[in-house]
Amino acid sequence: MNQTYMCPSCRAKTRFNVIEQVVTPVMWNSNEGEYEAAEETAPFHLAYNGPDKRVQCGSCGLVEDEIRFIKMAENAGR
Ligand SMILES: [Zn+2]
Repeated sequence: MNQTYMCPSCRAKTRFNVIEQVVTPVMWNSNEGEYEAAEETAPFHLAYNGPDKRVQCGSCGLVEDEIRFIKMAENAGR
């Protein structure tokens, strides 16, 4: 990992928790009365298009999309 992060809230640059997102599509099954795994390509089911990773600041606990931490570091470096 060679990405530089900076927390948008407290501007810490040292400690982070990187959260890999795992997507499980589910669909309500009214017969069973519970959610069950669904095909990601099922009709009318939007595929997840959010970020692969989220990041938590290890100093203040803020959780945001990884891109916000990367952009913050880039802007601070200028
Ligand atoms: Zn922070």
